[in-house]
Amino acid sequence: MTAPISDPHFVSRPDGAVYETDEPVTYSVADGIASVTMNRPSFNNAQNSQMTYALDSAFRRAVDDDAVKVIVLRGEGRHFSAGHDIGTPGRDINKPFERTQLWWDHSNKPGGEFLYAREQEVYLGMCRRWRELPKPTIAMVQGACVAGGLMLAWVCDLIVASDDAFFQDPVVRMGIPGVEYFAHPYELNPRIAKEFLFTGERMGAERAFQLGMVNRVVPRDALESATYALAARIASQPRMGLALTKQAINHVEDLQGKRSAMDAAFAWHHFAHAHNELLSGDRLGGFDGRAMAEANKRAEAGEQA
Ligand code: ZN
Repeated sequence: MTAPISDPHFVSRPDGAVYETDEPVTYSVADGIASVTMNRPSFNNAQNSQMTYALDSAFRRAVDDDAVKVIVLRGEGRHFSAGHDIGTPGRDINKPFERTQLWWDHSNKPGGEFLYAREQEVYLGMCRRWRELPKPTIAMVQGACVAGGLMLAWVCDLIVASDDAFFQDPVVRMGIPGVEYFAHPYELNPRIAKEFLFTGERMGAERAFQLGMVNRVVPRDALESATYALAARIASQPRMGLALTKQAINHVEDLQGKRSAMDAAFAWHHFAHAHNELLSGDRLGGFDGRAMAEANKRAEAGEQA
């Protein structure tokens, strides 16, 4: 398919993604508990589309397997997730995939349509789909849980964190009002959510626990045992009881406005992407993974000074 090249904002970028693995997500089941493990440890589990669709397949598999009662989402290596892939060799935003939502292929679309269609599918659409899957999910979080990584933890029903875990959404630095799955004022109270976003600072696991964003904080070497003990306890409950309870509580959140608030925030998010592109030609305001890491370091140094 050819792109509508008459649009001056359309820049065709051939997909140069080079994957370091064919298995960006691994899957296993034991004792009624499915483990869905992000498996790009050399890139701190940065989430590219390859991983996104592999996650979706793994969740689907866990839903389809009657032997699975509870799903644990985890990340291989030192960190749970560094967020969306904005700079590894496996970054594949131009690549078309077989989609799960009824949005059209973004990859040959001009202007704001490219990212809007893509993010409806791989971020907002996927996160809502995973949040609503009818089995309890537990995020097992160590190290970094940053930006897009927050979205993955937040769509889970419960979060167990190690004491070295931290949570951060630094995308205001890009001129963008938070990540696509805008749950911040639901995960945190609105004043804390503003602080979290305005400063872009890391929130440690202990504070996240005190604020109710995390269910348990345990030492790093007890993270796995604590997570699977909790999962096992839940797995003893009846499947339908769990599914209906999950639906009931998710429904209450939606009655409280979570879903419609997120739709509005998604529109502001995309105004920001478009504004960035108008100003600088870059939807992320000139930041890639390396630039964000350097800006984080500078901010931390400033805090200590
Ligand atoms: Zn975005």
